[in-house]
Amino acid sequence: MQDVTRATFNEVMVPNYAPAEMVPVRGAGSRLWDQQGREYIDFANGIAVTLLGHCHPKLVEALTTQAGKLWHLSNVMTNEPALRLARKLVDATFADRVFFCNSGAEANEAAFKLARRYGNTRSNGRQNQIISFYNAFHGRTLFTVSVGGQAKYTQGFEPLPGAIKHLPYNDLATLEEEISGETCAVVMELVQGEGGILPAAPEFVAGARKLCDQHGALLIFDEVQTGMGRSGKLFAHEHYGVTPDVLTSAKGLGGGFPIGAMLCTEAAAQVLQFGTHGSTYGGNPLACAVAEAVLDIVNDPLLLAGVETRAGLLREGLDRIAKRYGMFEPARGFGLLVGAPMSAEWKGRAKDVVNAALRQGLWALVAGPDVLRIAPSLIVPEADLAEGLKRLDAACAELVGAGMRKAAGG
Ligand SMILES: *Cc1c(COP(=O)(O)O)cnc(C)c1O
Repeated sequence: MQDVTRATFNEVMVPNYAPAEMVPVRGAGSRLWDQQGREYIDFANGIAVTLLGHCHPKLVEALTTQAGKLWHLSNVMTNEPALRLARKLVDATFADRVFFCNSGAEANEAAFKLARRYGNTRSNGRQNQIISFYNAFHGRTLFTVSVGGQAKYTQGFEPLPGAIKHLPYNDLATLEEEISGETCAVVMELVQGEGGILPAAPEFVAGARKLCDQHGALLIFDEVQTGMGRSGKLFAHEHYGVTPDVLTSAKGLGGGFPIGAMLCTEAAAQVLQFGTHGSTYGGNPLACAVAEAVLDIVNDPLLLAGVETRAGLLREGLDRIAKRYGMFEPARGFGLLVGAPMSAEWKGRAKDVVNAALRQGLWALVAGPDVLRIAPSLIVPEADLAEGLKRLDAACAELVGAGMRKAAGG
């Protein structure tokens, strides 16, 4: 077999990523090991994806059992794992119907296409505007990146799809001014994830629901990152007591196996009649078998209570580190989706913290240049949580020490 290393990446991969120097080869629970056998605590989980840690025995069993039975059919035939998963998602949520796909972007693509058809059929083509928010992230297809609110992701990809309006997040007055009979959907994250772990204000979410009802627009919650127990509830909108017409899920849904889903009401579902939308792999039996196992484990009051307990410990640890080094503002977020904003003095240096953490054997994430993002497994053992915090503390000490040496001219 040919040897591959991190250097191989620069030779054979499209240069759209800049992966870390280490190449992990194995994971178990909240730990990872790289090619050199070095061990890391995982506070990133593949960007809030492997929510039951690496190689959870029940997920391995679901995957390998299904792998011996049936891998793929397409949507010319349906399959038992997809039907079981859809039934369980409908039973567990506001939704009446489910569409499966393979990623968060595809789930949002389906939601936005649904919204356009919904508006177009009601109004004969006049109700086609999608309202979204600055700093939102909804995926990287051309439509989803255009609906997303970060210009850096659309630059150079013009011409972009039209009839998309971006407004300030958490600003209900502006939404009220701008929404109209031309609006077919308002889409929001309940915590802007990639945008910096910014939670939505309760009055903003409730107000958006009311305005959508007044104007006949769909309310879409992008719960790709906040969903599947990460917030301490199965879906984060349950914290707000507001239900959407359409909800998108991915990331944690497959616990590391690629799958996305769009959940919606009966009325919204009726827009996507036979032939209007589709995906070859959507509802793939392997993906659905794993996601069913994830849902069975996560949709359990005991597990969700455990998320809150762990979130409390994580927040306490982060507050201690923030106080000790003056590097962070108080942490924010829901459950085990936590952002620690960099203090004024350390603005723009979240990536330096991530790099120092890696040197100390901890994998964490950024959410933009100014926020350290931490998304541990929902079942991270308390000992691993404590060890991860210890390594983060060491990383901060290293950065502060390096700054002092620099100041001293050393
Ligand atoms: C990650 C993310 C997406 C995109 O998901 P992919 O699986 O990368 O396509 C969409 N919306 C939100 C809120 C996300 O965090």
